[in-house]
Amino acid sequence: MYGDDIASVLITEQQIQDKIKELAKQVADEYPERGDRGDLLLVGVLKGAVMFMTDFARALQVPVQMEFMAVSSYGSATSSSGVVRILKDLDRDIANRHVLIVEDIIDSGLTLSWLLKNLASRNPASLEVCTLLRKPDAVKVEVPVKYVGFEIPNEFVVGYGLDYAERYRDLPYIGTLDPKVYSS
Ligand code: 5GP
Repeated sequence: MYGDDIASVLITEQQIQDKIKELAKQVADEYPERGDRGDLLLVGVLKGAVMFMTDFARALQVPVQMEFMAVSSYGSATSSSGVVRILKDLDRDIANRHVLIVEDIIDSGLTLSWLLKNLASRNPASLEVCTLLRKPDAVKVEVPVKYVGFEIPNEFVVGYGLDYAERYRDLPYIGTLDPKVYSS
């Protein structure tokens, strides 16, 4: 698939699935089933978090509800500016709900920092973040993230939901791209 576009596999399918089980156990232990605020509400950030969201939701094995939000961050193809626009908002009110944002990757942290402020203003009972990937060396704003799957080097990655020009989201692993892909 995708010929020789992938230069290296950074995280294998097995490693991703093992990590999801680990994260799910941690989250399920920390959120009491049907507490006084109802089921845990997962908020997935489209489109990158879709694969992680669906695998993670099933691994949790506690009742959850799912909402999606789509945001666009102005910037170049491979970096964000922190100026965020909502393309699709949540369908429901999150006031008094336990909310867990499910993210694919935190790079500069600018998008997430904006999202946290935006969702916090809607008065959830609690608001935490679970991200599959984080690039510690790329951080421009520190954001409190309770659950982190993998810390990765400051390189552009694709696969498992993450794209380059809308391609490679369907790969089951996380990899880096061959430089020829950017120049073609
Ligand atoms: P941040 O605002 O943290 O810099 O960027 C967050 C968004 O930028 C992510 O949700 C993702 O859409 C995109 N992004 C950041 N790093 C990468 C990467 O290495 N690969 C891909 N495909 N997207 C990335």
